[in-house]
Amino acid sequence: MTALLEVDDLKVSFNTPRGTVRAVDGINFTVEAGRTLGLVGESGSGKSVTSLAVMGLHRGAEVGGSIRLHGQELNGLSEKALGAVRGRRIAMIFQDPLSSLHPFYTVGEQIAEHYRVHFKASRKAGRQRAIEMLAEVGIPEPARRVDEYPHQFSGGMRQRVMIAMGLACEPELLIADEPTTALDVTVQAQILELIARIQQERGLGVVMITHDLGVVARVAHEVLVMYGGRAAEQASVDRLFAAPTHPYTRGLLDSLPRLDDSDDAPLRAIPGSPPSLIAPAPGCSFAPRCARTTAATAEEHARCLSERPQFGPLSPGHQAACHLPLVPEGALG
Ligand code: SF4
Ligand code: MG
Repeated sequence: MTALLEVDDLKVSFNTPRGTVRAVDGINFTVEAGRTLGLVGESGSGKSVTSLAVMGLHRGAEVGGSIRLHGQELNGLSEKALGAVRGRRIAMIFQDPLSSLHPFYTVGEQIAEHYRVHFKASRKAGRQRAIEMLAEVGIPEPARRVDEYPHQFSGGMRQRVMIAMGLACEPELLIADEPTTALDVTVQAQILELIARIQQERGLGVVMITHDLGVVARVAHEVLVMYGGRAAEQASVDRLFAAPTHPYTRGLLDSLPRLDDSDDAPLRAIPGSPPSLIAPAPGCSFAPRCARTTAATAEEHARCLSERPQFGPLSPGHQAACHLPLVPEGALG
């Protein structure tokens, strides 16, 4: 059986006056119907660029590798052919609904827009569909609110409107790029629950892009951790949290707030900044920030600085790119 989405050796690069930016440099993943892949990394890790490439929205970039939806190759499709896929079979929602919603059109008109185009539906049928969708995403009094404008909705309600817009055409795949980052924790939890519920009801495949492993823990089945445009670690969510092997994953986990943190405890972040995507260093791109290589022997450290670690299996279903993977006792095998 072919997977819903299969991405093989995806590479995305841009030419700039300073040189070629390799924003994504050879990543692989699959998403099955009814499952969620968490795509995790800091800004600049390539996670958003990956999703734009899947949507065919990588203007001006060169895209290599394969992106298949139910076995159909999307990379290289004409703009017209992609237009039939985008919005219809793959939908995307973003962090900031206000900038994606048009201020001068009612939410009903915006929800109905793609639906009317893709299904050649009348204005009346479009409005009816918008009301159904508002109800599905849990907006009270949908028949009244359908005629309101985006500014009349709260941040959380606007994100629900975006989800309604994305799902009006019954896509098979939803790509959600930091959909809850701008929301407060309570609303964030409600939106994640909404996405999970709709996923179950519709058997939707979801790619959840986030910098926050807390979000991943709530919704993802599989996780791909990206660093500097490459895959750092990939595993099931349970496995990744129980036995992270890449020092970068470990660092992300350590930076999650803990229950015993006091309210004014400073946020822990991994010191240092993301690697150059124009002239990457020869060895492991995480080396300048990696506490593990600093503590290693001189020989091991030299290897980290000179030889790029290959992404490969540590145990069935668990892969990482590290010369010195962390192996908690008894965790592997
Ligand atoms: Fe750290 Fe070396 Fe592993 Fe890179 S390869 S993450 S520098 S231990
Ligand atoms: Mg981003």
